[in-house]
Amino acid sequence: MTDSVQPVASHFVNGAYLEDTAGASIPVIHPATGAVIATVHAATPAVIEAALAGAAAAQADWAARTGAERGRVLRRAADIIRARNRDLSRLETLDTGKPLQETLVADASSGADALEYFGGMAGTLTGQHIPLGQNWAYTIREPLGVCVGIGAWNYPTQIACWKAAPALACGNAMVFKPSEVTPLCALKIAEILTEAGAPPGLFNVVQGAGEVGARLVADPRVAKVSLTGSVPTGRKVYAMAAEGMKHVTMELGGKSPLLVFDDADLDDAVGGAILGNFYSTGQVCSNGTRVFVQKGIRDAFLARLVERLKGVRMGDPLDEATNFGPMASAAQRDIVARYIAAGIAEGARLVAGGGVPDRPGFWVEPTVFADVTDAMSIAREEIFGPVMCVLDFEDEDEAVARANATDYGLSAGVFTRDIARAHRVIARLQAGTCFVNSYNDAPVEMPFGGVKMSGVGRENAAAAIEHYSQLKSVFVRMGRVEAPY
Ligand code: NDP
Repeated sequence: MTDSVQPVASHFVNGAYLEDTAGASIPVIHPATGAVIATVHAATPAVIEAALAGAAAAQADWAARTGAERGRVLRRAADIIRARNRDLSRLETLDTGKPLQETLVADASSGADALEYFGGMAGTLTGQHIPLGQNWAYTIREPLGVCVGIGAWNYPTQIACWKAAPALACGNAMVFKPSEVTPLCALKIAEILTEAGAPPGLFNVVQGAGEVGARLVADPRVAKVSLTGSVPTGRKVYAMAAEGMKHVTMELGGKSPLLVFDDADLDDAVGGAILGNFYSTGQVCSNGTRVFVQKGIRDAFLARLVERLKGVRMGDPLDEATNFGPMASAAQRDIVARYIAAGIAEGARLVAGGGVPDRPGFWVEPTVFADVTDAMSIAREEIFGPVMCVLDFEDEDEAVARANATDYGLSAGVFTRDIARAHRVIARLQAGTCFVNSYNDAPVEMPFGGVKMSGVGRENAAAAIEHYSQLKSVFVRMGRVEAPY
């Protein structure tokens, strides 16, 4: 079916592939077929030690270079990624199951965007001059040191680049642990950064499950941890980082609201709801999975949605005509199937999908529930799959109150033609990343992240620099020191 995607070795440490078969075997499964396409090994303590020691050594040298020099390496890596977009996209598709139609435009390319953006910014990272009358102060923007990145399985290339690019631009080194479900793509990013001129040890990839991540987080040489994952994992990692007073970025889950008012452009709103629920088979943290539709247009919205779902093409994700792939793993397929059953049992009305096709691989149909109420588990808990909950509302105050009645706060969207209402509603929604008449856009120029339980810190844009650097303040006295004795 496929050319071999078996990597040269499981880990990429100190500028080269590294193997240690003493680590537990991790089969890499193509989600569309269930076939094992590669095997890697979890990092042993020796591999983790080599990665951390290598990163610490590389960081000192890297931080001593000029920002322009660092930026050149990142931008070169971006160019290589773009030149190899098709190969990298194919690997992403095999690793995650996401359709090639998506990965060709959303994964390696957004990783390249991050490397290009932060590469351009690397030479501009400066401190400040602070005049103080006769005296003055200045600040130096310093790197944090060795950073650890831990990724989820939905966007393995993008997550690796979104963390590496600002970290390296600021003069840090990184040890990155991909999700055990999708270990292949980050290795390619390490290879490409090395080819682009990154010194050995600057960006290392080590494989393994949670315990490898935990070991990295606990290591005293590590200054910062950036996690993309679920809230329960975030809680554990944040607590562990607190022991060492480490910096953290937490990009966690959500149960985001998408508010559709009765004056919205119906097709745009339906399109936004489709993108915000079914892209990447619903495995997107910022998805607008609680779709609040104003009562007057509820039936028209559902009718148009069901009509447009006829355009779903489920099939071999390597076929570019396919626009809907499988879940990333059997475990996630089973979680989603349980939520669909719970939705039916709780009395939600199934208006589309709901099936778990009996075929090899980890498939779930795009599913829409209507008549969902706030108390149902499908409206409260993150499903992380293609399950859209449609809820009705009467007026703006009610919609905002119900939208905010969640512990999460990653994203929110509003569809309306009334511009005053759009901005008024967005201002009241408790979410870190919001959309007006759109959903799920994530350009590198715009900060991305959550509030409440959805996380702390921001990825992308200049905001990310604050999370990968620290300021040293220097007071300079120009006159004599007048001590009392
Ligand atoms: P998990 O939280 O299960 O895992 C995230 C990563 O953390 C994995 O690499 C995992 O390893 C690792 N990990 C698990 N336990 C520990 C630990 N104790 N210490 C250190 N590392 C640990 O998330 P999923 O991979 O299941 O991803 C889905 C979740 O990610 C969803 O909740 C989703 O909302 C969220 N997400 C958030 C995004 C955001 O930007 N806000 C973007 C994408 C996803 P392993 O799994 O290999 O065992």
